[in-house]
Amino acid sequence: MIIMEKVNILGVPVDNTDMKGALARVKELLAGEGVGTVYTPNSEMVVNAVKDREFMEILKYGDLVVPDGIGIVLASRIYGHPLPERVAGFDLMTRMLELLAGERRGIFLFGGKPGIAEKAAANICKSYPGIRIMGTRNGYFKDEEVPAIVEGINSSRAEVLFVALGSPKQEKWIADHREGLKVKVAMGVGGSFDVLAGEAVRAPAFFRKAGLEWFYRLVTQPWRAVRMLALPVFIIKVLQDRGRRGKH
Ligand code: UDP
Repeated sequence: MIIMEKVNILGVPVDNTDMKGALARVKELLAGEGVGTVYTPNSEMVVNAVKDREFMEILKYGDLVVPDGIGIVLASRIYGHPLPERVAGFDLMTRMLELLAGERRGIFLFGGKPGIAEKAAANICKSYPGIRIMGTRNGYFKDEEVPAIVEGINSSRAEVLFVALGSPKQEKWIADHREGLKVKVAMGVGGSFDVLAGEAVRAPAFFRKAGLEWFYRLVTQPWRAVRMLALPVFIIKVLQDRGRRGKH
């Protein structure tokens, strides 16, 4: 088994890995027993986890936890345990799709507004020939529909489940149903189906490489500004935490 060093970011243990290492871990989870969970925290999620014990526990027990945001990488540097690179959830998902297509494995897309998962599935089929789409389900449902959703995923015989319900809903959903699911890997992917469906666009490569995806989003989606306040709050908390840890 690959033993990954963890970097503790405000209590969330993030795997000290790059994209290559993350993919190696996914391969291992595909070959292993039970449901392997993949979470991709950014600063906003970590700030939420500090306030939400249940969410924190879920992230702690993730089988692969990668730094989705540049804020997490920055924090690791502040702590003096630098993470090698940002491993964006969207990028990890697309690299996984490549891998899964090569092995002709089956996936299930769960989440997004009605029609989005189907659109994303059609585009995935075009871009990743060989992949098997075993099923899709939109992310708007009542509690009483959940058993049928789980049964639908299991009877599809998909090996990988991508869950796009937004955070922390998707991580909580995965953790709540981990026992009942028969997939090999379940991953929370936020708004990724919207991008794959062509309904949302990612920041251009220049912004992503410069660690400025947040800035691009701020300018193009100013209504997200309130959510982005999590980044400075996060950095202040990390600085305080480093100060506290330094004293022990
Ligand atoms: N979503 C969903 N069910 C819900 C709430 C949200 O399927 O009850 C979907 C929504 O349609 C969107 C995604 O979850 O595709 C959340 O996107 P967002 O960009 O907000 O995710 P995050 O920033 O948390 O990654």
